[in-house]
Amino acid sequence: MHILYPFAKRFIAGENPQTALRSIHKLHDAGFLSSVDILGEDVDSREQAIAARELYVELLKIFAPVNFPMDLSVKLTQMGLDIDKDFCRDNLETLLTAAGNNTVRFDMEGSAHTQPTLEMCLELHPKHKIVGQAVQAYLFRTQADVDQLIENQISVRLCKGAYKENPSIAYQSMDDIRKNFLRLGFKLLKEGNMPAIATHDEYLLSEILSFVSRENIPPESFYFEMLYGVARDLQNTLLTKGFQVRVYTPFGKAWLPYTIRRLLEKKENIIFVMTHLFRETFGLRKIK
Ligand SMILES: Cc1cc2nc3c(=O)[nH]c(=O)nc-3n(C[C@H](O)[C@H](O)[C@H](O)COP(=O)(O)OP(=O)(O)OC[C@H]3O[C@@H](n4cnc5c(N)ncnc54)[C@H](O)[C@@H]3O)c2cc1C
Repeated sequence: MHILYPFAKRFIAGENPQTALRSIHKLHDAGFLSSVDILGEDVDSREQAIAARELYVELLKIFAPVNFPMDLSVKLTQMGLDIDKDFCRDNLETLLTAAGNNTVRFDMEGSAHTQPTLEMCLELHPKHKIVGQAVQAYLFRTQADVDQLIENQISVRLCKGAYKENPSIAYQSMDDIRKNFLRLGFKLLKEGNMPAIATHDEYLLSEILSFVSRENIPPESFYFEMLYGVARDLQNTLLTKGFQVRVYTPFGKAWLPYTIRRLLEKKENIIFVMTHLFRETFGLRKIK
């Protein structure tokens, strides 16, 4: 087993559709919505991309008898964006057709993929209204992208951004990223089509809550969205306050890149992994 798996388990709903569906049911019973992500990215063979597409289709089939919505999140490099754009579009069309009324949101990856991802979203949305798009507040360009997505009535998920980007294209300080997040978030809440505010940052959440109350934004006109296993107390608080809360629920065997991004987001996570590793290496487990 990979040394990071004990840590990964906190952030993923297992490795197969059955474990993921159990988590989705639990979330639904507790009052949460979910967006399911089959882990995988930077796919460089057609076989892998087709296998990923088929896994989404299988998940939708297993899920079909259930009568509550399940959004999907998908990375375009997992559907073959780096192999061939037409091939990627074909895979997405198959997936979108199978998805019925469930929203399929395109995750936003590193900046090399920003433009092609948005182009694909804008191209597919007129035929498949269920397509949504994630955007990253740390990129300078996102203001203009959000305007274009609002103009096209595309549902947007706003997050800070999880990749390392160059200062020539992205804000670097938390202060600047937060300012831009709020600028974009306020606009989306006022003018967007069912936007999702995706953060666990308490400062941002309290500013958003004040704005929502000041501007009388109806709770049913937007979502809060948080990651599986992160800030569960905040997820519950928002739910109790009467907001719609969606949990981004990843599962699958290709959990390593996702887990590393989560690991780097918080220093306590690195301490957790180091402690685990130390105990394992030196035989210091409490249970033997
Ligand atoms: C629903 C959702 C979808 C996302 N989709 C994308 C996407 O498509 N593309 C993209 O680039 N990024 C995506 N992200 C990741 C995002 O860009 C950030 O990297 C991530 O959310 C951390 O930023 P934050 O706003 O929560 O603020 P932070 O300042 O990083 O975190 C605020 C607080 O949240 C808690 N927290 C945050 N992360 C962790 C963690 N890993 N472990 C434990 N506690 C943590 C801590 O208490 C921390 O102090 C998504 C995030 C969410 C919530």
